[in-house]
Amino acid sequence: MNIKLLFLLVLGVFYHQIVKCQTPTIVDRYGQLRVEGSYILGQNGDTVQLRGMSMFWSQWMGQYYNASCIKWLRDDWNCTVVRAALGVESGGYLENPYEEVPKIKRVVDAAIKNGIYVIIDYHSHEAHKNPAAAKKFFTEMAKKYGTYPNVMYEIYNEPLQETSWSKDIKPYAESIISTIRTYDPDNIIICGTRQWSQLVDEAASDPIKDKNTVYTLHYYAASHGQSLRDEAEAAIKKGIALFVSEFGTCDYSGNGTLDYEASKIWWDFLDKYKISWCNWSIADKNETASALQFGVSWSGNWKIEKLSPSGKFVREEIIKKNSILFQK
Ligand code: MG
Repeated sequence: MNIKLLFLLVLGVFYHQIVKCQTPTIVDRYGQLRVEGSYILGQNGDTVQLRGMSMFWSQWMGQYYNASCIKWLRDDWNCTVVRAALGVESGGYLENPYEEVPKIKRVVDAAIKNGIYVIIDYHSHEAHKNPAAAKKFFTEMAKKYGTYPNVMYEIYNEPLQETSWSKDIKPYAESIISTIRTYDPDNIIICGTRQWSQLVDEAASDPIKDKNTVYTLHYYAASHGQSLRDEAEAAIKKGIALFVSEFGTCDYSGNGTLDYEASKIWWDFLDKYKISWCNWSIADKNETASALQFGVSWSGNWKIEKLSPSGKFVREEIIKKNSILFQK
């Protein structure tokens, strides 16, 4: 090797180290997460509030489940968390596990590589009817990823209204949690609640005995307002921690008016209680909730004008709030 080349190589390694030192990732900073009362804490005892994006159902928007898209969400959107939504029914994991599971792994691997947190979401409305399928999936995930601080497991996206917390959802959750805990004793588990993950106070009255489990709260800002915040507040006061793994800036159908004011009221509420959130969703479907305009690139690199009004609005909020974390 000639001396010039060696010099450049040494310089390169040195520069890489310096840059790395100057820009620690969110996972460098918070590391292994844990729950204490109604808060999620990082490795040094800091209260953690993550903000980022949820992917859309994997079987319908799988094109965005790739490494460069995740890197773009970190670099350009400032996301500290992403959520990979494994579609379970409707042509998803149950029918095509060999197509759907690799999509989830691509997102998780990219999140780990980029130093952000990632939620492995079992995106189902009736998961408790087939716990064996969920156990098989989470066994594989916990074995593969249980030692990475980046990973969280969301075991049941949205149980329906007609289910029972104590008789259906809780027993399902306990059995999946026990499966995950066989391989991963500590990473955070996010547990769905009744009525599309709204009735968190019901869960707070009969909580699961696992020290690092939090509960899912979902809202759509144009449909759900103060009464749902009251429900959340009651749950918090009983001592459980919440995670908004999904919310929309529009109505509960994912469509309708983009409600800026209602969205801001919700963000104030989430900031007050340090509740982490992911916005629904990275998709180019023609509906208000989608962050992207139809037909954009599958690999990120989206110009601002290629985002939907909701995408622009949410991206600004993420950048504004998450950048405070990295100010010196
Ligand atoms: Mg672990």
